[in-house]
Amino acid sequence: MVYQIDKSVCVGCGACAGNCPVSAIEQKEDRYEINPDICVGCGACESTCPVSAISRK
Ligand code: SF4
Ligand code: SF4
Repeated sequence: MVYQIDKSVCVGCGACAGNCPVSAIEQKEDRYEINPDICVGCGACESTCPVSAISRK
């Protein structure tokens, strides 16, 4: 179970990265990405995104 950030929706605020317990969310230029090798699928990031850019894939 992996969560992904829709880059076309993400506004680069960084809120999700600060809430990931395993630091799986990395800044890539002006957007953020979830590293699927680190993500444990907890879902904590999903509810912190103000623009609902994060969803389970
Ligand atoms: S689902 Fe959990 S582990 Fe995965 S990126 Fe979001 S907060 Fe981090
Ligand atoms: S919380 Fe949402 S908008 Fe902010 S960096 Fe994360 S995915 Fe992008």
